[in-house]
Amino acid sequence: MDSIKFISFLLIAAGALLLVFALMPARKTWNMVPEKLRAKWLAIMYLICFFVVGYIFFEIVLITDIHFFDDIVTGLVFLGGAIFVFITIKLSKNTIQKMTEMDNELKLLNKTLEQRVKAGILDLQHSYDFTSNVIDSIPDAMAVIDVTDFHIVSVNKAFLRELDLQEDMVLLKTCHEVTHQSSSPCGPPNDICPLHEMLLTGKSSSAEHIHYNSSGEKLHFEVTTTPIKDNSGMIILAIHIARDITARKKAEEKIKHLAYYDNITGLPNRTFYKELLAREIAYARRYNQPLFTLFIDLDSFKQVNDTLGHDIGDQLLKAVGDRLARSLRNSDEVARMDDGQTPETVSRLGGDEFIVLLRGISKTEDAAIVAGRILQDISEPLEIGGHEITITASIGISVYPTDGEDVKTLMKSADLAMYHAKDKGKNNYQFYSSNMNVVVLKRLSLENDLRKALEHNEFLLYYQPKVAIKNNKIVGAEALLRWQHPGSGIVSPLDFIPVAEETGLIVPIGEWVIRTACQQNKEWQKLGFEPISIAVNLSNRQFEQSNLLEMIIRTLKEIDMATKYVELEITESSLMKNPDAAIAILNELKDIGITIAIDDFGTGYSSLEYLKRIPLNSLKIALPFIRNILTSPDDAAITKTIITLAHNMNLKVIAEGVETKEQLDFLRTLGCDEVQGYFFSKPLPADEFMKLLQKGYF
Ligand code: C2E
Ligand code: MG
Ligand code: MG
Repeated sequence: MDSIKFISFLLIAAGALLLVFALMPARKTWNMVPEKLRAKWLAIMYLICFFVVGYIFFEIVLITDIHFFDDIVTGLVFLGGAIFVFITIKLSKNTIQKMTEMDNELKLLNKTLEQRVKAGILDLQHSYDFTSNVIDSIPDAMAVIDVTDFHIVSVNKAFLRELDLQEDMVLLKTCHEVTHQSSSPCGPPNDICPLHEMLLTGKSSSAEHIHYNSSGEKLHFEVTTTPIKDNSGMIILAIHIARDITARKKAEEKIKHLAYYDNITGLPNRTFYKELLAREIAYARRYNQPLFTLFIDLDSFKQVNDTLGHDIGDQLLKAVGDRLARSLRNSDEVARMDDGQTPETVSRLGGDEFIVLLRGISKTEDAAIVAGRILQDISEPLEIGGHEITITASIGISVYPTDGEDVKTLMKSADLAMYHAKDKGKNNYQFYSSNMNVVVLKRLSLENDLRKALEHNEFLLYYQPKVAIKNNKIVGAEALLRWQHPGSGIVSPLDFIPVAEETGLIVPIGEWVIRTACQQNKEWQKLGFEPISIAVNLSNRQFEQSNLLEMIIRTLKEIDMATKYVELEITESSLMKNPDAAIAILNELKDIGITIAIDDFGTGYSSLEYLKRIPLNSLKIALPFIRNILTSPDDAAITKTIITLAHNMNLKVIAEGVETKEQLDFLRTLGCDEVQGYFFSKPLPADEFMKLLQKGYF
């Protein structure tokens, strides 16, 4: 083979290689060929290969000058080319057709997709609008914060309204910046901001904030911050919800005030005092300091309340509370340990009881000075509702730690000491001492014994004659209760009536008195003595008894005692307690024929207005006036005035406590109608009184 042919072979080989390399990538496109076209694709590939091989063969033949087969090869090459052109044309047609179909399919798909996207966007818009509406309708201020830089990314309307800001003034600002534009309930991003707490714990957290609105009103907000995490659990956003809790806070404050303060005086109440004392005890224990508890009880407050009414009583309590506070402020002479850093507290325990906590003083003498000052200030006359009222108080003092180391014991000790002050004649102060317990035990045992006295038949009645001053004739008798105590002998009603009133035992006891006195009177009548009227004392508590009238009517009926022989003595104070109700009951009593006398007249606060409306029969001048009638011009003048007043109102006047002939004569000159007193007779047992009845006159 010559060199030219060799070069030709090389060139053919290179060309063949080039073709193979050119066809190689076509193999890789196999996967991309659609399933339907794969057979045709393969046919093309084989044809190309055939054509290539034929061409190579043709070239080799040309080069090697081999002329046989020339026609066959040319024919084959031509046929191959024809088939190639045919298939290509056919395939192109099919492909174009397929592509057109695919294009149509794609267009349809596109349209559907487009419609779906539009619907999706619409849905999204709806759901966005819905969410916005929901969030905006939340009454609490709400802000969404990006926790990476504390920027606000979204807020609701309440937030803008609450802060009085526009959306553009808030969005993309930090909480801190927003806070500076307004007194934001969001709060500054400081340690107390719930956003920071929340970030630390990863949990929802809340805190309360106070801020003042533009008109200076104090508002309370409860800010709750809730984290929003991404899929990896990292906190990306925080939702701040600031709820206006001002109304709740105000209600809480009101409840707290009601729970801790007294509504009449505005002073702290018992609950407050007990909590305060407990805290102060802990402090005093730690610093080894004394504490003084002053238990203050007004003397005869009940009388003011009963006679002048609850309104005046309430005003008096308020005035006393003010005086107590003033008194403590003014007790400058007392040496302080702490320059008044811990001011004393006055509290009202209830009723007419007040309590004072004295701190910062070390000496008992100083506590005594304060107590003395309080007594003096309280006893200054007060002008209330047109009445001049003078009231005094009794004070009991207990000292921490000597008289008690806890709240209960200290208060109890001071209370006991106060009772002791009452026993000592009121209007004084007493320090607690351990033997005071004895007094209390005595009172408790009295109460216990009194409960059993009725069923044990330990009561009896004494009778004291009422004498007509003009002829010394016995016209009536007052039944006076006595208690024959198994251990102590006869007990005075002055000692046990108050206890009976306090415990309510006076109701059954009073019923027994009416029945026994009327039975006795009936017996004397049956014995043929000239009928006299029997007077029975009625206490406050009985007077309030709803079935009093019914009880009296029933009792008198059972005994068959005419009502005209029964007189009820009612003290001035019980009448004036509730004059309108009293007038109603007394009218009913008068209607059935019972006579009514005001007892101890002159010691209460009768209103003349009421006096003229009360269906009365007589006035009994109180014993203290008669006692001093000859020595005190005032008492004589009062007695004279009462007699004139009574007569002008067509009432009978009885003077009680007449012990001497001089008193009797003086009363006679004043025109008094009847007298009662030791001068004629002390109260006597029934059989002895009968002896007086036998004579009929003194
Ligand atoms: P009172 O109704 O004003 O009775 C008059 C009191 O004065 C009686 O005291 C009587 O013994 C006393 N007394 C009478 N004359 C004289 C006198 O010349 N000099 C002195 N110093 N005293 C005289 P008593 O019996 O100790 O009763 C005291 C009070 O106890 C009574 O005052 C009355 O308020 C009450 N009381 C007595 N019995 C009853 C009762 O059955 N029911 C009620 N609710 N109270 C009663
Ligand atoms: Mg009486
Ligand atoms: Mg009397």
